[in-house]
Amino acid sequence: MTNRQNRTGDAVILKSGRDKPVRQRHPWIFSGAIASLPAGVEDGEMVEVVDAAGTWLARGYLNRRSQIQVRLLTWDEKEAIDEAFWRRRLTTALDLRRTLPEMEGCTALRLVNAENDYVPGLTVDRYDDYLVVQAGTLAIDRHKTLLASLLLELTGCRGAVERSDMAVRKLEGLASATGVLAGAPPPERIDVREDGLLFQVDLVRGQKTGFYTDQHTNRRRVAAYSYDRRVLNAFSYTGAFAVHALRAGATHVTNIDSSVDALTLAETNLRRNGFDPDRHAEGVAGDVFAVLRDWVEQDDQRFDLIVLDPPKFAQSHASVDRALRGYKEINRLALRLLRPGGILATFSCSGLVSADLFQKVVFGAAVDAGRSVQILEWLRQSPDHPVAITFPEGEYLKGLIARVTP
Ligand code: SAH
Repeated sequence: MTNRQNRTGDAVILKSGRDKPVRQRHPWIFSGAIASLPAGVEDGEMVEVVDAAGTWLARGYLNRRSQIQVRLLTWDEKEAIDEAFWRRRLTTALDLRRTLPEMEGCTALRLVNAENDYVPGLTVDRYDDYLVVQAGTLAIDRHKTLLASLLLELTGCRGAVERSDMAVRKLEGLASATGVLAGAPPPERIDVREDGLLFQVDLVRGQKTGFYTDQHTNRRRVAAYSYDRRVLNAFSYTGAFAVHALRAGATHVTNIDSSVDALTLAETNLRRNGFDPDRHAEGVAGDVFAVLRDWVEQDDQRFDLIVLDPPKFAQSHASVDRALRGYKEINRLALRLLRPGGILATFSCSGLVSADLFQKVVFGAAVDAGRSVQILEWLRQSPDHPVAITFPEGEYLKGLIARVTP
């Protein structure tokens, strides 16, 4: 038994009856579950967590400014949070990636998936021999130089840069931070391979960390339907779905994105893989909603396969309804633009929209479009983005491959 007097002075004390998620190893403690915070611990530092009776439960880090006041790192009282701890956690995460058959031959992948790899707040992507780090919380921000040098040592990579320019940093009271964390500064653009295809990743101007590795296995699945089809790749970013589709025998691809930089890089990516952008592809800079509406009205564009991979529409609980209307609208428009027998590959990366709910939205879109639709496949994020079973919030990307019944 743990001595209560010794523990409660420097510990986060939970309210009575609020200890179950902690015991079940959910890594987050919200302010509503907390009876009292330790006076002597500063934000960003380590804290002990005890239940209302003073029994030790877990250890993690504190940030009073965040709604998630504590993120938990260990449930083993003997496990100290020292350099050896971080090294063990990172090693475990790296070991998984070495054994993932799906990611073989792929030089762009997620190495550390934050809470889902038991390192809350830390995201790390590998692009060839360089690492891109995102520090999502105050405590990780404080440890980022140590973490980056450990990562270089464990992976043998040449350098680690930071792209901590995510909006969530504001919730932690942190400003954006970018730049080299350890090792050699990388070139602005890095070539990566995915299933034998070549993609350029822009480490400075690219979105997020530069490339969407979470769609890797889905690009492969969608490619399998692409032979002899005219493809629309909406929300294309740098055209990864398009390049996969062309290699699989698509007759033509149209990329739409609001980012001209992304479309320019998409052209580079087409060329690098032997596809002449003038012959095989078209890039449309614009708003997908407006472009699709226009095409439906003009009735002059039809496709055999449409990929819809929008950004996260639901950023918060308050924006879920609006997000659902957005998902329904693009899916309705896409279904109208598909020829009979056409394939829709549709995604949502909003964690707040469950797979069930997303399917209902696509159903609603089919009703409104007057199309009958058969679901062929249910898709999820690639396995380099694992989901800790204790942390259902880690599951965010879902998709459907569906067919418009002729
Ligand atoms: N499918 C891509 C990733 C898409 S990320 C891949 O496999 O790499 C989402 C993309 O949508 C971003 O490139 C962003 O620039 C674009 N975007 C966001 N809102 C948009 C809109 N309303 N119209 C067109 N593009 C949009």
